[in-house]
Amino acid sequence: NTASGTALKVTNLSKSFGGVKAVDNITLNIANGEILGLIGPNGSGKTTFINLISGLYAPDHGTVEIAGTHPAPGSLMSAFAAGGARTFQNLQPFSGLTALESIMVCQRNSTKAEAIGWLRTVNLDNKSRLLCSEMSYGDLRFLEIARALATRPRLLMLDEPAAGMSMPDITRLIELVTSIKRAGIPVLLIEHHQDVVAELCDRVAVMDGGRMIALGTPDQVRSDPKVIEAYLGV
Ligand code: ADP
Repeated sequence: NTASGTALKVTNLSKSFGGVKAVDNITLNIANGEILGLIGPNGSGKTTFINLISGLYAPDHGTVEIAGTHPAPGSLMSAFAAGGARTFQNLQPFSGLTALESIMVCQRNSTKAEAIGWLRTVNLDNKSRLLCSEMSYGDLRFLEIARALATRPRLLMLDEPAAGMSMPDITRLIELVTSIKRAGIPVLLIEHHQDVVAELCDRVAVMDGGRMIALGTPDQVRSDPKVIEAYLGV
């Protein structure tokens, strides 16, 4: 049910660890087909935010709606069933599987032809028989995105996909996310690389100290004094 046209609807979301308000009363929507960037200094709450949406953590307060449904709080399976798919900042490859097999275990409908199609989407179809343990760091990052795409997500969450990537791989990543956008898949993109954010994102949300301090186009947030201040640590 996407009648609302909203891929993600987050209302008054909060999560604390001890005395630390990691996510502090965030309200944010992602429209269908939109690419929303989430940036902010280290420790500002980005990972906690994505962990709340993907069901890794239950919020203390607030609600999460993915593609029109309310997943059970703190349930990865429920968030996945609602159409949420994510990648992780730290790679979690299936070392004992080939590239092709690692796609097939993620698909909702596991035909081999379809799995090869997902590998082709990320330009890895010529490496389908390689073991994940034999693949390069950059290729594993692309494989992880292919695995998330294979679940046919209604909201794709990418947690720092360009981290540690070479410049050619970053160019390849920008092309891939552009094609994901063209396919109409909404994306929540946590990313440090300014040029990746500026190139891909329709809007950017900026977090600092658990709060959302700015929301706008890449140009708007880049010139926002509050954002500059947050990054300079003033
Ligand atoms: P970011 O992803 O922007 O670097 P995080 O969401 O990782 O920020 O962290 C936000 C704040 O919450 C930090 O102060 C961090 O130390 C704290 N935090 C995050 N996860 C945990 C956890 N599992 N236990 C305790 N504190 C945490």
